[in-house]
Amino acid sequence: MTANPIRPTIPLDRDGVHHGFLRLPHSRNDSAWGAVMIPITVVQNGNGPTALLTGGNHGDEYEGPVALQQLAATLTADRITGRVIIVPFFNAPAVQAGTRVSPIDQVNLNRAFPGDPAGTATSKIADYFNRVLVPMADVVLDFHSGGKTLDFLPFAAIHILPDARQQAASEAAMMAFNAPYSMRMLEIDGAAMYDTAVEAQGKVFVTTELGGGGTATTQTIGIARKGARNLLIHAGILNGRPDIAPSVMLDMPDSDCFVISNDAGLFEPLVDLGDTVTKDQPVARIWSVDRSGQPPVTYTANRAGLVTARHFPGVIQMGDCMTVVAVVLT
Ligand code: ZN
Repeated sequence: MTANPIRPTIPLDRDGVHHGFLRLPHSRNDSAWGAVMIPITVVQNGNGPTALLTGGNHGDEYEGPVALQQLAATLTADRITGRVIIVPFFNAPAVQAGTRVSPIDQVNLNRAFPGDPAGTATSKIADYFNRVLVPMADVVLDFHSGGKTLDFLPFAAIHILPDARQQAASEAAMMAFNAPYSMRMLEIDGAAMYDTAVEAQGKVFVTTELGGGGTATTQTIGIARKGARNLLIHAGILNGRPDIAPSVMLDMPDSDCFVISNDAGLFEPLVDLGDTVTKDQPVARIWSVDRSGQPPVTYTANRAGLVTARHFPGVIQMGDCMTVVAVVLT
């Protein structure tokens, strides 16, 4: 298979703290032999497990990038056993543009796996992680939030996996991350996701949805910081004691969790994040943005549960995910 063109500017397997870049050649109008430079920090101390931590898979989600920038700037080798690979801006061009997908090729990194070493810039990033960095890791954490168009209750998440031992190990890592909510998450479209590629390699994988709306709060950044630290302690890499508080277990058993809009218009939520709803309870109304005097269209919950995600912008399009109702496990 074609070699991936990305080259790290630092060693990935040497003791100490190394800050550098993953250099992705990118020939373009303003730089004929230019490159996309993806920041990377590797902290290593002897033999031990490896954690791979990523933020900015989507460029408009900020808890992961902030928490990982702080970790990269402060983590010292004497506090760990093993290795921590920190990539705060997984899809760096998207982060720099503040957009979900890459401005270079309009590709969503989290729908680009397993990637292609001869593909577009985003496909090359995916291929490099899939074939080079993920195989080095024992535990993988990929930070997400809702971005500009969704908002979430803060949760860490895993998926239901065919391998029971891998699932149990991932669930233990999710509980160690210890977000206020912990979710067994159902994906609408999981085939080309980073999550799926990492899980297919048998790795312990934790993802998050920590907030959204294209920003971050002190609360959600705090959850990200604490979660990364707790997870590194749980993995046997970072010295210290985890900081554990109660976490509500949530499940998304099937597609009834999603309320999808069949209309376009002005979005009026009738419930907020964290509200408990009953089956058939109205969750939102869509009003016309074209004319006055029209009745709204009312949408209802397909199941009882906890409002876990919502559409964020004030205007909604046909096909948008409006509300997510998850089931609270007791
Ligand atoms: Zn995301």
